[in-house]
Amino acid sequence: MNKIVVCYQSLLGLYGDRGNAMVLRSRLAARGFDAEIVEVEPGDEVPADGLVYLLGGGEDAAQISAVRMLKEDGNIFRAVDSGAVLFAVCAGYQIVGNTFTVGDDDQVIDGLGLLDVDTRRGPERAVGEILTHWDSPTGDYLITGFENHGGFTELGKGAKAFAQVEVGIGNRADGTEGAISRTNPKIIGTYPHGPVLVRNPQLADYLLELALGVELDELPSEELDELRRQRVAAVRR
Ligand code: GLN
Repeated sequence: MNKIVVCYQSLLGLYGDRGNAMVLRSRLAARGFDAEIVEVEPGDEVPADGLVYLLGGGEDAAQISAVRMLKEDGNIFRAVDSGAVLFAVCAGYQIVGNTFTVGDDDQVIDGLGLLDVDTRRGPERAVGEILTHWDSPTGDYLITGFENHGGFTELGKGAKAFAQVEVGIGNRADGTEGAISRTNPKIIGTYPHGPVLVRNPQLADYLLELALGVELDELPSEELDELRRQRVAAVRR
């Protein structure tokens, strides 16, 4: 059974990012792959044999607890070493990086160090719809979602941008959004909620293909395409 591991929803579940797990499971099932969602809560051991690990958005204090427990547990490191995909959204994205800051005094917290990025508080929060261009394996693909973060992220040499911002803020400084590890391209961080994999099924399939190492059949997409067309038009208006 393929495990989709959702880490600490009670801490990192503020924006409904659990929907990312549901869409991964349903798109696997549509291709005949069995999959289960494993929800790990504080105190539970993180399974080391997951296919995909998901981290979602949450508040600053929750990020500190989540990063501490993930380090103590250690299995997320073992899982990515053995080839699992790690897809982290917003607070999750910040956590997988080298450092992030919390609180009014900008306390610097060490992240998991799995992605070469550092996050610092910006002058104002980034709140609203975000539209970015992802250079997907089949060409330019629009990512839609919403963002709500006060931290802004700088990429180090070991990471490359995931997408380029058309509308919204993203990483902030350089018009980029999200990051992919150069040493392990199965580690991806990004800011959009939505949930982002629900709004952007091609990205969901990309993660599944990375995780499984196979090419997946296309699924019918007329309805989703129409919803995406409407969403993009609304954001661009
Ligand atoms: N606390 C982080 C920030 O504001 C992450 C917020 C979030 O996950 N939406 O930057």
